[in-house]
Amino acid sequence: MERIYADNAATTRISDEVLAAMTPFLKENFANPSSYHSAGREVRAAIEIARKKIASVISCEADEIYFTSGGSESDSWAIMGAARLSGAKKHIITSKTEHHAVLNTLKSLEKDGFEITYLDVDRMGFVSPEALEKAIRRDTALITVMFANNETGAVQPTDEIGRIAKKHGVIFHTDAVQAFGHLPVNVKGSNIDMLSFSGHKFNAPKGAGGLYVKRGIVLPNLIYGGNQENGRRGGTENAAAIVGMGTAAEIAAKEMETESVRLKKLREKLLCGLSAGIDGCVRNTPDKNSLPGIANVSIPFAEGEALVLMLDIKGITASSGSACMSGSKKPSHVLTAMGLDEKTAHGAVRFSFDRYTTEKDIDTILNVFPDIAKKLRDLSRL
Ligand SMILES: *Cc1c(COP(=O)(O)O)cnc(C)c1O
Repeated sequence: MERIYADNAATTRISDEVLAAMTPFLKENFANPSSYHSAGREVRAAIEIARKKIASVISCEADEIYFTSGGSESDSWAIMGAARLSGAKKHIITSKTEHHAVLNTLKSLEKDGFEITYLDVDRMGFVSPEALEKAIRRDTALITVMFANNETGAVQPTDEIGRIAKKHGVIFHTDAVQAFGHLPVNVKGSNIDMLSFSGHKFNAPKGAGGLYVKRGIVLPNLIYGGNQENGRRGGTENAAAIVGMGTAAEIAAKEMETESVRLKKLREKLLCGLSAGIDGCVRNTPDKNSLPGIANVSIPFAEGEALVLMLDIKGITASSGSACMSGSKKPSHVLTAMGLDEKTAHGAVRFSFDRYTTEKDIDTILNVFPDIAKKLRDLSRL
């Protein structure tokens, strides 16, 4: 049985081109990039080329990109760093639908005396810029609102948030892990001060990501060590993964326009087909202002976990929310914040796509899922 992988919001496979670009740095080009010999300088040069490629995707300078181990580290670094820079300011604004890398970092700051405002979202998961502006106080140190949501694909009004943050002189960080390489991002145009990204969400390997930090913000270290990353994040670089991430970023930028049109068409085909084929199917992904590759639906009265298991048996890999929440009995904090009742939030399934997803995959899901959904819904209604 040929399996269909529809869990790309959890992680993606490495593109063939990316693996090819990485291989020399796992074999012959293994030297330490901080070494002065020519072998080391060659690896250093490749890392700096990757940095330029990544910077160009979000329209910043190469020296504003700091490589990290991934999205969680970048989120932690940005938030903990901003908190340490904040002096007497002890207030942070975020949304209720953030990734746990953000929410749990903020929770740790609450224990240190910070006060956090968690903004509500509307029925489709969007924060209100007006509510955000009203929440700003004289002691607000940071606004951290994600670019795009990993469960539903909702894209926040980042331009407006950036404008408001700038107007009030508050640092603005955004978790753009789902958006980077999938949506146009311009950090200068959107007044973003810090932005997190992660390679394995755009067909690069796991364990490599980064943080954009606007020039002028001197973020305190999260990791101490050598002089790597401008002395701000010590540790010998994962050169192969960084080079792979550079290649993946370049491909993503080149394919972004055509891929987003293609994936959005596939997503709408799936969502329309599911609404037509399953009575009471609820759409959790906004049709506008959303990631092209995420389709989240709820089957009220069915269990998301059971739906995912049945899909798995039929050869389809999907998810019942975010990977980090799987195994938990609580319904998704994102769907709950959107106002879904418990029976609907529990019945959520997320299908997420990438450059390797085909129309045939969508057709197979459409053939298989409605029967599973009806069976499980009717079972639990009994
Ligand atoms: C996956 C993800 C993260 C975590 O990234 P890692 O590289 O796995 O640490 C953070 N935020 C969002 C929105 C994500 O989707």
